Amino acid sequence: MRGYKCKCGFATVADRMRCPRCGKHMKLTYWPNRGKVLAYVRLGVFPKGGEFPMDLLMIEVEDGPKLACWTDLPFSKGDDITFVQLEDNYICSPQCEIKKVEHKVELSQVDRGEVDE
Ligand SMILES: [Zn+2]
Repeated sequence: MRGYKCKCGFATVADRMRCPRCGKHMKLTYWPNRGKVLAYVRLGVFPKGGEFPMDLLMIEVEDGPKLACWTDLPFSKGDDITFVQLEDNYICSPQCEIKKVEHKVELSQVDRGEVDE
């Protein structure tokens, strides 16, 4: 996964060179496609292009940006997940169930620089 990171700690997967927090130049950075669940939000809504209700998952990539993904699986805070990049989006799955759910989980990239601590 590639994105941009600033010295102040701000990170994003959006294509932007300037840090929205401090205005400094951000550096192109690569992270492993792994993250930890920060929050699991029960929504039960149909995401764009989705065929069944999903919930929202907020994940944090170590030393990297925060991302949100759609999932139809129950997660808890602190769970490890992996994801695969698909064009502008990420497909996320729990590490142990990646095969089983890969066609059912859709991740939408919401961290476009507006997500902050
Ligand atoms: Zn900054």
